Amino acid sequence: MEHAAANGNGTSFHGNSPPHVAMLVTPGMGHLIPIAELAKRLATRHGVTSTLITFASTASSTQRAFLASLPAAVASLSLPPVDLSDLPRGAAIETLMSEECVRSIPALTTLLLDLKRSTNLVAFVADLFGADSFDAAAAAGVRRKYLFFPTNLHVLTLILHLPELDVTVPGEFRHLPDPVRLPGCVAIPGPDILMPLQDKTNPCYKWMVHHGAKYREADAILVNSFDAVEPGPAKILRQPSPDRPVVYPVGPLIQADRDGGAAGCPCIEWLDRQPAKSVIFVSFGSGGSLPTEQMRELALGLEISGQRFLWVVRSPSDEGAVNDNYYDAESKKDPFAYLPEGFVERTKDVGLVVPSWAPQIKVLSHPATGGFLTHCGWNSVLESLVYGVPMVAWPLFAEQRQNAVMLSEGVGAAIRVSESKGREKIAAVVREVMAGEGRGAAVRAKVAELQKAASEGLKEGGAAATALAEVVEKWTGGGGGGGN
Ligand code: UDP
Repeated sequence: MEHAAANGNGTSFHGNSPPHVAMLVTPGMGHLIPIAELAKRLATRHGVTSTLITFASTASSTQRAFLASLPAAVASLSLPPVDLSDLPRGAAIETLMSEECVRSIPALTTLLLDLKRSTNLVAFVADLFGADSFDAAAAAGVRRKYLFFPTNLHVLTLILHLPELDVTVPGEFRHLPDPVRLPGCVAIPGPDILMPLQDKTNPCYKWMVHHGAKYREADAILVNSFDAVEPGPAKILRQPSPDRPVVYPVGPLIQADRDGGAAGCPCIEWLDRQPAKSVIFVSFGSGGSLPTEQMRELALGLEISGQRFLWVVRSPSDEGAVNDNYYDAESKKDPFAYLPEGFVERTKDVGLVVPSWAPQIKVLSHPATGGFLTHCGWNSVLESLVYGVPMVAWPLFAEQRQNAVMLSEGVGAAIRVSESKGREKIAAVVREVMAGEGRGAAVRAKVAELQKAASEGLKEGGAAATALAEVVEKWTGGGGGGGN
């Protein structure tokens, strides 16, 4: 990185250094991947370099390898560890991330001051659980504070309304007789509302309300979504409002298909031998796993469906939470031991079961893949849409149930597996999405339409590309708030 000289005002000037952005990434590959894509796009399209700032709690080898693979224009730094040992065992992930962020403010302030000295720092970007870091930006004198929201406009609308819903909604969301209706959004039944809001006595609920208020300090919010997949909230949020920051849908930002990443991968070799669009890919994200009983029903449902399948299995979640693998994708035990007896042998001609991890982009972009049974993590949804793969929705935690409602009841890009999770129902939904002539056909057509819309938006002059160009203009062209 270039070093700069201080001028008489105590700020810095940087000759011809490119504009630079500092981006704080809260834990989770699902947060890191899209923000890294944003950084890459800023570099290739706009000549803006960046530093991704990560937390010590996520210094896993997967993350290190990912950061090391980024182009030179995207640097990375890790914050020093902070002590979280006073938090209760079993504290929610959202609480851990929020606490780690607040406790990192002093170190982050120092780091931003260093970046101000050594780069042409034009803005600071925090992500969804990191809005408290705006205090560090303010302390370091970085005036442009942006939020990158890696999930969608429905979730953003909910979080922005939380300070008000906290006052107006009595009791728990899951007990509400009517669905929650927010401007432009698909009505969300109470039990499907964002998981961390489902128990108001849990500190993570208060954290989310707090974030909803803190988001208002952002100069603008960049969202990893696009208009066609959620036209209702897109229309509303694209309008400026005195109640909240400007919102820019800049997606879909999905991880690039890295050459060589799947070299010799048995699942790709297996897919190469399957007919076009014949395989349903089954995966629950980077950390999701099922309770034993549901894992068995899913196995039997896939078998009964008669469809070809590629299933990423993890050991069941019974002894912990469904998101137990959040900080570590590796299965804790041998997942194959939990499959129904004889299942692998009986299905060996039509199915492949792989433990823990598959190169998802390569799988979704493979011509043999015709469906995706997904936990509806937002990255997975966007990847599915970018590659035109219709979805079976099987949400687990975080905002996934809301995403499932929005995809199945709203835009119609998925069919949701019924709550009972019985094998016959699973088989019927899988068959419908893969080959059904009714709802399945409509879902397949809708996904093809969304695939086209997503790619149009990202082209020069498309909605997402234009939105990002406007943001960069504000950072570099003097619009809104001056330099660093
Ligand atoms: N992923 C992958 N292989 C796997 C599981 C996940 O490549 O076996 C990637 C997937 O492509 C996506 C991310 O990990 O980019 C998961 O993010 P998502 O938002 O879907 O879910 P999360 O992991 O946050 O629950």
